[in-house]
Amino acid sequence: MVDRLFGTNGIRGVYNEELTPEFMFKVAASIGSFFKGGRVLIARDGRNSGPILSMVAAAGLMDAGCRVYDIGLSTTPMAQYTTKAMDMDGGVMITASHNPPQYNGVKVIDRDGIEITREKEVEIENIYFGGGWQRSTWENIGLKVNRPSVLEEYKDALKKHVDVKVIEERKIKAVVDGGNGVGGWVTPYILKEVGVKVYTINSNIDGHFPARKPEPTLDVLDSLSQMVLNVGADFGVAHDGDADRAIFVDDKGRGHWGDRSFALIEEYYLRRHLGETVVTPISSSMLVEHIARKYEGHVHWTKVGSTTVSRVMVEVNAELGGEENGGIFYGPHLPVRDGAMASLLISEIIAESGERLSTLLDKLPRYYTVKRKIECPNQAKEEVLEKIEKEVSAPRVETIDGVKAWFKDESWVLIRPSGTEPIFRIFSEAKSEEEAERIADAYTRIVDEAVKKISRKTTC
Ligand code: MG
Repeated sequence: MVDRLFGTNGIRGVYNEELTPEFMFKVAASIGSFFKGGRVLIARDGRNSGPILSMVAAAGLMDAGCRVYDIGLSTTPMAQYTTKAMDMDGGVMITASHNPPQYNGVKVIDRDGIEITREKEVEIENIYFGGGWQRSTWENIGLKVNRPSVLEEYKDALKKHVDVKVIEERKIKAVVDGGNGVGGWVTPYILKEVGVKVYTINSNIDGHFPARKPEPTLDVLDSLSQMVLNVGADFGVAHDGDADRAIFVDDKGRGHWGDRSFALIEEYYLRRHLGETVVTPISSSMLVEHIARKYEGHVHWTKVGSTTVSRVMVEVNAELGGEENGGIFYGPHLPVRDGAMASLLISEIIAESGERLSTLLDKLPRYYTVKRKIECPNQAKEEVLEKIEKEVSAPRVETIDGVKAWFKDESWVLIRPSGTEPIFRIFSEAKSEEEAERIADAYTRIVDEAVKKISRKTTC
């Protein structure tokens, strides 16, 4: 953290390594200065370092003269909704989202409920690195108000966007895997409120994340799949640590990447809004484009990053966005990803269609996705990327974020450096599993060789 504080999704670090309470105080005071001592909401997810870091962050905000409204434990989308609904000047969410337990971090929320723009992050960085925040005097120290849970208001806001009667009549059964994060508290409550019979696993909040890693990837969903089969549920949903993401398991116990569940929601939406635009990052499946074409819709591809998707949705006036990692952005509520909203939409789709989730998903065209990771020191990333760009040969290459190459038969590969970790991510997609593996293997080799070559050079 030399001259930047923010990564792709806010500020992240290991507690008491990069992210000390002293650091948090200064960051929060800089954020408070940026919000000009206004009304700022603060919330935290279920991490062990959450209570201390939110206390220190509140103190930093107060020293910058802010009136702090502390809503305590919250999912990120609940804090985002409340920031906007309570007409705050801004919000501070203490979370490291899907990162391992030792991490924590900050997401800064603007008054519209969306995370702040990169330009505003730079303003906060300038305050932080440029001599500090505006300290209050003894007369104008900010206040802190504890606001009791906002879950009721949030639940009422979400319910408005689905047909509760239709969902109730279908008598849906669902299993929620909170992954020991705050989502295990929020989503079951909201689903029950629309008449879904809810079973839970891993839904006690525990900052050690004892059951599975906080990121809901398909390889950690065995218990959820098993539970779905055991109770005969219509679907299962797994969240990440702050529950803005939702990965779904169908009634046959099969897990699906986010772009497939997004495609269902996209189809449901476009059928009623022919020709509209949907927003998705460059890492998403061709499936998103396939569905859009069917309903005369348009896909607006963006850089990877949930804030970019949100901001582009506002810019191009789109009501729906989605990510392959399980982010669903439902604009009529708020153009931010929201795991509880996604769970409600899937419930409504099952109820309205009268079909099984597995049947609905099986009707979608099949594309196979392979994801790989390769370690790469942060300082070598740029040069590695330049080298890869030169080596890729394909009819269509896009460099909006990393390098994406489309091949003739709708297959593609995307190679991009992670914004939060010292790794390169390689995504490939094709109409057969073998082809997707073949492409991933080939480009893993290319990236691996480039990383080795350039790391050797940079360490010499
Ligand atoms: Mg998250």
